[in-house]
Amino acid sequence: MIQKRAPLLFVGHGNPLNAIENNTYTKEWERIGKGLSPPKAIVCMSAHWLTKGSFITSTLKPEIIYDFYGFPEKLYHVSYPAKGNPRLASNVHKTYPKIGIDTQWGLDHGTWTVLKHMFPNASIPVLQISIDYSVEPKKQFELIRSLRPLRDEYILFIGSGNIVHNLPLATMNQKSYDWALDFEEKSKRLIEKGDIQSLLDYRSLGTSATMSIPTDDHYRPMLNTLALRYDDEITVFFNQGIELSSVSMLSFMYK
Ligand code: ZN
Repeated sequence: MIQKRAPLLFVGHGNPLNAIENNTYTKEWERIGKGLSPPKAIVCMSAHWLTKGSFITSTLKPEIIYDFYGFPEKLYHVSYPAKGNPRLASNVHKTYPKIGIDTQWGLDHGTWTVLKHMFPNASIPVLQISIDYSVEPKKQFELIRSLRPLRDEYILFIGSGNIVHNLPLATMNQKSYDWALDFEEKSKRLIEKGDIQSLLDYRSLGTSATMSIPTDDHYRPMLNTLALRYDDEITVFFNQGIELSSVSMLSFMYK
């Protein structure tokens, strides 16, 4: 029997407080998790793990990292006791030697704030692959693309970032900037069309793109997600919307 390929997700994670909130975004995460058959493992590509080179985590019991400051105390007590899978990490490294082994990193909030809702039992092993911040996005895109066969082993890849992410201009009111709304729509159309070239070359997409991506740490997980897409897959969007005036929650999946 041919095993079905695992779905693929990009999740706009937004505010770390989503971990302990129950809002329209987190309800979607919950709904999507319930609709998926449990994968063998989850590999998260989070905006909050930036490295020189590409690495995969290889600890048996990954620790939760509270990589944010000034949030309510209860957020620092959230747990997510998922195991890792060192054997899988080692196999990935053997098959794709450009992906190094990391034994230090745990699960950062780009990962656990989402998984807390999507897979609340923490019963599926979770690994992370870092964002290589030392090379242009296209270079890592090609490396991540070579990992596509892992999806055929029913391994679920999740990119976690935000397509529009301009924290210096974030506000507490809910009035979205026009450029944020504009780029959310523009990127949505390009993702739908599968126009990878334009998305990689985002600096040529006009002012709304440069305002939305002042640094591309939160944008790159989206590109790495698209790297794992097969051409015959249709994009299903969820959670569109601008939070804090300048953060897009736009998310999508292939299943
Ligand atoms: Zn973030």
